[in-house]
Amino acid sequence: MNGYSLYSCDTPRCTGLKEVITPDGYLCEDCADELAAEYEDEGNQPTNIGVARHT
Ligand SMILES: [Zn+2]
Repeated sequence: MNGYSLYSCDTPRCTGLKEVITPDGYLCEDCADELAAEYEDEGNQPTNIGVARHT
């Protein structure tokens, strides 16, 4: 072992295992959750995903 695993999360310094494919790489669940939260916080998504509003 050289300290780097092919199966480790793509986030630097994260020791989690790759579990979820995201636009930013192959991340562990924790990092993927944080990433998803960040995208939601931006509130300006390029596409409407599953949101239908009748106005
Ligand atoms: Zn991670």
